[in-house]
Formats: sequence, C-alpha cells, structure tokens
Amino acid sequence: MAIEPQRILKPSRPKGTYRLHDFIIQRTLGTGSFGRVHLVRSKHNLRFYAIKVLNKERIVKMKQVEHTNNEQHMLEHVQHPFIINLWGSFQDAGNLYMVMDFVPGGELFTLLRRSNRFPDPVAKFYAAEVALALNYLHTLDIVYRDLKPENILLNSDGHIKIADFGFAKLCMTTTWTLCGTPDYLAPEIVNQQRYNKSVDWYALGVLIFEMLSGLPPYHQGDPPNHLVLYERITRGPAYIKWPAAFSENATDLILKLMESDPSRRYGNLQHGAGDVFAHPWFREVDWEKLAAREITAPFLPRISGDGDASAFDQYPEDNAAAAYGLPASDVYGTVFPDFEYTNPL
Ligand code: AMP
Repeated sequence: MAIEPQRILKPSRPKGTYRLHDFIIQRTLGTGSFGRVHLVRSKHNLRFYAIKVLNKERIVKMKQVEHTNNEQHMLEHVQHPFIINLWGSFQDAGNLYMVMDFVPGGELFTLLRRSNRFPDPVAKFYAAEVALALNYLHTLDIVYRDLKPENILLNSDGHIKIADFGFAKLCMTTTWTLCGTPDYLAPEIVNQQRYNKSVDWYALGVLIFEMLSGLPPYHQGDPPNHLVLYERITRGPAYIKWPAAFSENATDLILKLMESDPSRRYGNLQHGAGDVFAHPWFREVDWEKLAAREITAPFLPRISGDGDASAFDQYPEDNAAAAYGLPASDVYGTVFPDFEYTNPL
C-alpha cells in the first residue's frame, strides 16, 4: 500500500484563546449537518465574529471526526485574502467552536440566484479570485474538495472569502474519500478512483459554467436523480448543452477544466495553475492587482453597518444557543485534540 508522504504545516500565526463566555450570540447565519454558524459579538472589543458550533456526538455518529479535525487544522494554517480567517477554536463537553471573521456580504449563491446568471466579466472576476485561492491552497498541498457558490462568501468590499473547510485535507499525492457536492464532483471521484488536487480545478470549471448559465452543467432538477447525474458526469463534458451566450473562450476554459482525464486537465499539467491563469478567457485579468485586492469588485453588498446580517437567510433559532456550554459528561473528550479546552467562565 502506498504511504502518503507527511507534510507538516506550520501555523501562520498564533491563534487566540477564546471561550463561549467572551461572546454574545446574536442570530443564526447558516446551518449544517452537525450544527450551525452564528453571528456573535465580542464582549471585549465589541466586534462581530461568526462562530461555527459543531455537536461532538453528531460528528462522531456521522463518522466525520477526521474531516472536522482536518477543517480546524487546515484553517489554522492558511492565511490568504480570499479565504476565511480562523481566530481560534475551543470546545466544551458537548460542542466544538470555531471563531471566524464575520463575512457580511452573504453567499455568492444568493447573489447568483437573484441575478439568474452573471455577465461574462462578473463571472470572470469571481472565478479569477477563486483560482488564486485554489492555487494558494495547492501550493500548501491542501485539496479543498467543496467548491460551490454556497461556500463562497462576499466581504463588505465585494471580494470573496472561501468558507467551509469541512472537506479540505493535506494531500501531497492522491486520496480517495468520496466527498463533496454531487454537481461538482469530478468523474474520478464518482468512479471511486484515487484522485488528486486537480478535482478542485474540475470544480472551478463547473463553477464558471454555473455562474454564466445560472445552473451547473449536469443539473437534475428537484429532487435530483443522483444516478443520472453521476452517469452524465462520467460521460464527460462532450455531452453538455452549451448556452448560446457563452463566449468561445469561456467554453474552451470550462472544457479544459472539466476534462475527464486528470492527466490532461488544466491546472494539473506541467505548468500547474499557470495554464489556468494564462488562458485567453482570463486575458484581461491583472493577476498581481487582483491578488492585492486592487481590482474593484463588480457588486458591493448593501450593508448598513457592522453586524448587519441581512444578506443571510433567516433560520429558525430553535433556542439552539441555550444548549451551548451546559455541563454534561464529556464522552468524546479526547477525540478533537486541537480544539482547546478553556475555562467556561
Ligand atoms: P459552513 O458549515 O461552514 O458551510 O457554514 C454554513 C453557512 O454559514 C455558510 O454557507 C454561510 O452562509 C454561513 N457562514 C459560515 N461561515 C461564515 C462566516 N465566517 N461569516 C458569515 N457567514 C458564515
């Protein structure tokens, strides 16, 4: 059996020590299978943050321990203008907590559904920022594995912040876990073969298609038939129905990213991400200015002040926050060693 070479990530900077009592929980910003993300306000500096709360028991029952530890580990080590910033993480008897910057502009998903589709230059702007973030992760040997408009948040200045590192992991060679979001899965994942970081470039191809057309290329309607979807993914992009409005360059780049054979896929060739950056669809992108956030974003979120979460959908609160920090027996006390234990008071 091949053994994956070990790579040790060095912390990008020291993280703070936090506890639940430091924050006032305001409202829910999003929900997931293991918990929810809340808007919170620090009692000390009065700034707003987002805290992701994950129920330990649910994580263990759903066999997501490794993914959750990976998420914390990866986020602790990355530092990039287009990736969410993790300030610190802690746990108590029942839950794990991750303290992040609050990204107020909401999900790219919401903006896309509201706009139906993005004009070519708008899609290009978001795709280019995503490409820079993916390239950064890949240089650290991190595969992200969950690119989709729901996981791309917009900052107050309209630039992106990629969130949800629940499937990110260190990957120097190949890996094989079946995970991700059905519409965005590369054919080798669907076929349960070993795969490498190029699955993220495949997903960028799907994302560009979805931004330009409003729906991913193999979209199945509601409820989706995953069998049909996986068959289409396996048959490859030659069978995609291309909207007439797509430019030749956009179609060409999508085809090169959604290439079924990973050894021929853009981003995974001799010049790596360089091929993607140099593609004619991105011709007018000034990559250095883009990386420095000097290109004005095409859409500025309407935000009335710090802590305005109106860009996010409303979720029933179900008094969820009242259950945090309650004394309980800590059955999973050693399972998440990188989440600190801090004095609750
Ligand atoms: P996640 O489980 O990380 O995908 O988070 C679920 C949802 O919560 C996301 O899709 C966002 O809508 C929201 N969310 C997550 N992190 C943040 C953040 N740092 N700031 C604002 N909203 C967030």
